[in-house]
Amino acid sequence: MTTKPALQLRDYIRNIPDFPKPGINFKDISPLLADGEAFSACTSELAVHMPDDIDAIVGIESRGFLFGAALAQQTGVGFVPIRKPGKLPADTHAIEYELEYGTGILEIHRDALSQGHKVVVVDDLLATGGTAAATIQLIEQLGAEVAACLFVIELDFLAGREKLSPTPVHSILHY
Ligand code: AMP
Repeated sequence: MTTKPALQLRDYIRNIPDFPKPGINFKDISPLLADGEAFSACTSELAVHMPDDIDAIVGIESRGFLFGAALAQQTGVGFVPIRKPGKLPADTHAIEYELEYGTGILEIHRDALSQGHKVVVVDDLLATGGTAAATIQLIEQLGAEVAACLFVIELDFLAGREKLSPTPVHSILHY
């Protein structure tokens, strides 16, 4: 199967100025999801950057679920959700991390990953890197290793990937 080049996938990302608040240029992935060919091409492009011998794909709530689950299906690897607090029903491990204003909390089921597991983290967009950095920490606290972080979009000017170093990072589209 041929993969659509990045230039074309870019056409399926819609910019919404001043959402959810003034000064934020929101990258809306809805047009990409709505187009079967573009969504499939995006998943295939993510799959190209999957390291070998991955035990699980970890998706970050909520748009990371869409791309993470699609990638899991395509590659035959299981999917593990990382969720906002109070959503996961079984025993959880949590991490608190800094947001622009205040703090956020992410949770994972304690039995979702085991010591030595090698995982890939997927989200729609890498901005400051705070969310993905907290996710890596959460996974490492369970004894697993993050082999790579994959994003559909990266906002290069926020230098988020520096926060994820030395974890390999790949993004399909750069702004
Ligand atoms: P950060 O922790 O700053 O890297 O932010 C990453 C998270 O916030 C991702 O889960 C994104 O879905 C969301 N996000 C941040 N900035 C944007 C943006 N400009 N457009 C769409 N989503 C964003």
